[in-house]
Formats: sequence, structure tokens, C-alpha cells
Amino acid sequence: MSPIIPRKMDTFRTFYDFSELKAYLKNERAGQSIGLVPTMGALHEGHLSLVKKAHVENDVVVVTIFVNPKQFNNQTDLKKYPRTIEKDLELLSEFKNVLICTPNERAVYPKNDPYKPVDLGRLNEVLEGKYRPGHFDGVAHVVHNFFHFIQPNRAYFGLKDYQQFAVIKKMTRQSNLKVELVGCETIRNKSGLALSSRNQHLNNKELEDTLVIINTLNFIKENQRKYNIVELKENAIAHFKKSPLILEYLEIVDSESFEKLERIGPNSVCCIAAYCGEVRLIDNIAL
Ligand code: AMP
Repeated sequence: MSPIIPRKMDTFRTFYDFSELKAYLKNERAGQSIGLVPTMGALHEGHLSLVKKAHVENDVVVVTIFVNPKQFNNQTDLKKYPRTIEKDLELLSEFKNVLICTPNERAVYPKNDPYKPVDLGRLNEVLEGKYRPGHFDGVAHVVHNFFHFIQPNRAYFGLKDYQQFAVIKKMTRQSNLKVELVGCETIRNKSGLALSSRNQHLNNKELEDTLVIINTLNFIKENQRKYNIVELKENAIAHFKKSPLILEYLEIVDSESFEKLERIGPNSVCCIAAYCGEVRLIDNIAL
């Protein structure tokens, strides 16, 4: 079901399905460049930084708000996912030339689904791919269908979800889609915690505890020349394990292939996933 949007808030263009959106773009926005920002809602400054960048670089911006069931490997996580549509619309109402699309599942995944599954290879086997089976297939599927139905010139993604961006690049290449992909820097709170819709489930004590994530990433970056890679990871993991967070992985990989590295090079990235209570958090730093 589409979220119910109060009329008083519908002062800017909101679309519930792609045919309506496409007709509007064709008739009212012919020849204009389209920037797409896919989101699952519960918007924060991280999402808005993508919207702002898209706004500067395109004539019109489409923000999709769709909590994609296919990318949740855990049904409790899907149920618990924050849904704040009224606040989202209010935040987006600040922008001119921003269209909002809140499609339902049937619109995103029609009977005649245009998606031909792509082979994500190693990306599906390591880090997020390993710990969230099926997640990236769901991400590739939904983003493919958005590209297919909306046909944007550019699409904007956060580098907080570093491996997700690699998945989208691979899907776009394999599906032969002509859209420019733009990776955007991670927006953090004052303490350095990457903004995430899931952070709203954290209490003040937990918010403080999460600082171990950015501290560990900074430790890796600052000490990358001091230790060899094995010692560097061991030291970082030992430091992390003193915190109340439960570390799922800390790995240093090549930013394209996601292969584990024996030596840090110019395209290395350190990725972390950890649980703070029930909340799963990810972050990364380029080395
Ligand atoms: P989500 O709603 O979590 O699917 O995120 C929608 C988009 O916003 C994705 O491309 C995310 O990578 C991006 N995003 C989420 N959090 C941040 C952040 N803190 N900084 C920059 N981009 C972000």
C-alpha cells in the first residue's frame, strides 16, 4: 500500500506510480535532466546531502521513498524499519524542482518485471554480501527497476554504503543502462557517527558507545604505515572489542574487487559492521 499522504502536505509533486511520474516528466519536463535519489525514507541530513547535490547538478530531482522488502534478509528488521513519511515530505518541501515518488510493491515489481538478474560475483560473497545473504540481489533489483521506469540521467548514492555502490555500478554495467552514477561522501554527526535511519533506535548511552566505530577507522587510517596489515587489524580489533559493541567484521579490501589485501595500496578501504544492542551499523574509511 502507498503511504497515506496528508493533503495539506501535498503542496509539491508527489507520485504513487511510475506511469504518472513518467507522463509528468515527458509532458512538463521534456528535455530536462533528471537526477534520481533512491531512499527508504526516514530521511536525515545524509539523504538530504544527496538531494542537494542532485539539485545542483540536474533540472529536476526525483526522490523515491520505498522500503524495499527484497533487500531485507531479516523480517524483524523490515518490520522495525522507521517510517516517517510526514516528516520526510516536510524536509523535502524545502526544495524546488524535487518530485517525490512513493510507489507500492506492485508498481516496483510488476508481473512483467523488467529485471534480468545480474551476477554480482564476489560482491555477494564477502562482507555485507556474506552477512546479509540476498541483500544485494534485492538492492540490484530495486535500483534496476527505478532506472528502468524513471530513466534518470544521473543517480546519487552514499559512500557510507560502499559495497552497495559497487553493486550498483556492476548491475548498471551488466544491464547496459545509461545512467551516470554519483557516489557522495558520508555525512556524520558531531561525534563522527555516520548518520543512518537506524540511529534513531539508539539511546544516549548507545550513541556514545558507537564512537568506537569512527575511532577504530581513524586508528586504521593513521597507523597504516606503522604496522603491517595483520598487526594493524589485530590492534584495531583488540581496541574495538573493549567496547560494548559486537563486531561482525573489520576488513581491509580493494575498493573495486573487494578482495582481501595483504598490503594497503591506493585503492584500499577499511569496512566495519557491528551491532550496538539490536542495531546493526556499518561504516568505512578510504585509506
Ligand atoms: P537508505 O534510505 O538507507 O536506503 O539510503 C538512501 C541513500 O542515502 C543511500 O544511497 C545511502 O548510501 C545514502 N545515505 C545514507 N546515510 C548516509 C550518510 N550518512 N551520508 C551520506 N549518504 C547516506
